[in-house]
Amino acid sequence: MTAPFTRRAFLGTTGVTATALGVGLTGAAPAAARTPAPHTPKLSPLPLSAVTLLDGPFRDNMARTCAYLKFIDPDRLLHTFRLNVGLPSDAQPCGGWEAPNVQLRGHSTGHLLTALAQAHANTGDEEHAAKGRHLVAELARCQAAAPAAGFTPGYLSAFPESVFVQLEAGGNPWAPYYTIHKIMAGLLDQYRLSGNRQALDVLKGMAAWVETRCSRLDEATMQRLLHVEFGGMNDVLAELYLLTGDPVHLRTARRFDHEEVFGPLAEGRDALAGLHANTQIPKIVGAVREYEATGIDRYHRIAAFFWDTVVHHHMYVIGGNSNEEFFGPPGELVSRLSDANCENCNSYNMLKLSRLLFMHDPSRAAYMDYYEQTLHNQMLGEQDPDSEHGFCTYYTGLWPGSQRQGKGGLVSAPGSYSSDYDNFSCDHGTGMETHTKFADSIYFQSGDALYVNLFIPSEATWERHGVRIRQETAYPKAETTRITVTEGEGDFALKLRVPGWLGARGQHARIRVNGAAVPVQAHPGRYATIERRWREGDVVEMTMPMAPVWRKAPDNPHIQAITHGPVVLAGALGDREPNTFPAIDPRSLRETGEPLRYTARADGAEVTLMPFAEVHHQRYTVYWATPAPRRGPRLVAHYALDGTLKDATGTWADAVLAGGAALAEDGGVALNGTGAHVVLPRGLITGLDELTVAVRVRADTLTNNARVFDLGFNRRTFFYVNSRTGSGRTRFSMRTYGMEGEDFADASGTLPVGEWLHVAVVVGGDSAVLYFDGAEAGRKDGLIMSPLVLGATSQNFLGRSQDSRHPYLHGRVRDFRIYDHALDAAAIRDLHASQS
Ligand SMILES: [Zn+2]
Repeated sequence: MTAPFTRRAFLGTTGVTATALGVGLTGAAPAAARTPAPHTPKLSPLPLSAVTLLDGPFRDNMARTCAYLKFIDPDRLLHTFRLNVGLPSDAQPCGGWEAPNVQLRGHSTGHLLTALAQAHANTGDEEHAAKGRHLVAELARCQAAAPAAGFTPGYLSAFPESVFVQLEAGGNPWAPYYTIHKIMAGLLDQYRLSGNRQALDVLKGMAAWVETRCSRLDEATMQRLLHVEFGGMNDVLAELYLLTGDPVHLRTARRFDHEEVFGPLAEGRDALAGLHANTQIPKIVGAVREYEATGIDRYHRIAAFFWDTVVHHHMYVIGGNSNEEFFGPPGELVSRLSDANCENCNSYNMLKLSRLLFMHDPSRAAYMDYYEQTLHNQMLGEQDPDSEHGFCTYYTGLWPGSQRQGKGGLVSAPGSYSSDYDNFSCDHGTGMETHTKFADSIYFQSGDALYVNLFIPSEATWERHGVRIRQETAYPKAETTRITVTEGEGDFALKLRVPGWLGARGQHARIRVNGAAVPVQAHPGRYATIERRWREGDVVEMTMPMAPVWRKAPDNPHIQAITHGPVVLAGALGDREPNTFPAIDPRSLRETGEPLRYTARADGAEVTLMPFAEVHHQRYTVYWATPAPRRGPRLVAHYALDGTLKDATGTWADAVLAGGAALAEDGGVALNGTGAHVVLPRGLITGLDELTVAVRVRADTLTNNARVFDLGFNRRTFFYVNSRTGSGRTRFSMRTYGMEGEDFADASGTLPVGEWLHVAVVVGGDSAVLYFDGAEAGRKDGLIMSPLVLGATSQNFLGRSQDSRHPYLHGRVRDFRIYDHALDAAAIRDLHASQS
């Protein structure tokens, strides 16, 4: 842990003396503390106390959150802490996740401690420090009263310690260590950023309590307990160790190493699918701290691999991850869109992780490219610009028609904003933190270099070189940022992050010093280094040319988002709720003359595109359907399945027999109804906005929901024909994840039993028609969706459903074909005749 704040900047804002602080001040480390870090980061941020935000959206957001921090009544947040240890409180109880009967109560007090410390460090406003001191002093009283209340010494919580007894006994209470972590992290920040010594004492007491509880557990019990979300317990304890040097703190931290999650990551395996995202991210942040504390490279490997995996395989274009809070299979993104994507806490924690990894590996500008992308799109946008108190949403939904509006801010009302006292969700809490630390990661320092990472208007003091700088920019509404040395002089390197997004159009940044071009390398995704003797009045300008860039979704090249520089442009839909992805004509994109505002034609009407973070109090879309080039008519794939598994078109890999499926002597594949199925290659129907699927099938038993074929990603993204629905009809159906309802066509009856039937589905021209033996058996006109939005389906099955709860088909299949166009009725008759 390098100096978290400079002496001058810190003393200038608080007047507290260095000796009162104990540790952390440059050149003032007291004898009691040592820094036992074998892997001190190569960089440290310029502290919050040395950076001031200038006018702009980041400062506006911060001001709203600071107003809330001043407004909120600490006694209401202390109410349940006091009652828990028998101290009197007549405060009005809070609502939401702080209500007296909610297990998570107390977590917001932790977030508040951090937010107050950050706001104080950044603004110097003594009111934030005083509120922090009051909270810490009252929490200390609660902690001191714990033994008398029958709790283990050091215990500090708003719920009784018996919850931990339940947890250790194998119960599944709602995340008790998660809440303890928030309080501990808040106390740590009160100490580090506001110089509150009492906060450190209370924190040490809590750490001792954790060790008391956990040291009694055997390894297997401890690992089992780690299944319950525990926030970043390893993080805060390792950080505490880096401050105190007390080996017990490190030992306690490492008890929270969750091997079930760490193991695959250490081996470089992505096993994240199906895991609750925000349960994992904080423990990975902790792994970096443990790397710093121990020097054990495995911790770094775990964290770096996790970051790469999430950013490259689980991230939506706004920088967020998760659908309904969970990671999906790698690369499956627009096949998992809903109004509950991108829990905001996940990104709050991913930014922490990126920042730490960057500090260890400053040559990887990708960490800060990600930081910028997420900050400008998701974090800036999570807060309601029209709320005086900086209310935040919980999720950032990305299904077309998701919204940010309304009140509630909880899981039950995705996209609605939080409130003063009736919400207190995790995202309300991390929102308080996010919006008070925008000044934190703009500038980093090493011994002889100053890094400029973010282009946010600000002033900064680089104490080490006695230099002050001022950064002025309207970025990303303007392409240029201008940095002026306003005080001091010295020999050092100025390192400017050249954003990786420039590379999408093969462009470089242009850099000028005092109006003249300088011969520096300015490659996208790297740092441009300018070394010289800097003097007062020197001006550096970096220009980053911006233009719209279409970004294909990894699982569907015909679903795209539009970015402009670091910003995602979203369609502002007002009250309109599209059924599925609006179809946009990319050639219709027009500038409006206002920065970052465009218009385009989508679904036949004009739509306004604007920075995603600015879309509030209405519905929006980030992803659009874009037209596929017409290539046909052609046969896309043909698996005869007559003694061969080959695709007769020569395009695709062989079909794979699974679960006991076998090629039958007399033709076709035999399916036993108990697991046998055929797996076809992924991507078979990619880019088809109309298509025909045909197959011959013999059902030997009819079971509800068994599939003849099912091409999809998951149980909400599919294109299938089944043998029978509950209402006794064979059904064709297609749907994509976030859609309400589905497009389906029912036959009047079912597949015959024990007889071969030629089944075809033709989708095109706004209709879907189901054919049996060359004759129309069912149809749906006025389709909601196009098969184009299904994308590169990863699970293409014959005889098996996307839904693992459904039975397998019992019978035979053969002669499976896909055409890239809608065959007409005569062609289907011919096909039936030729396939018979
Ligand atoms: Zn959350």
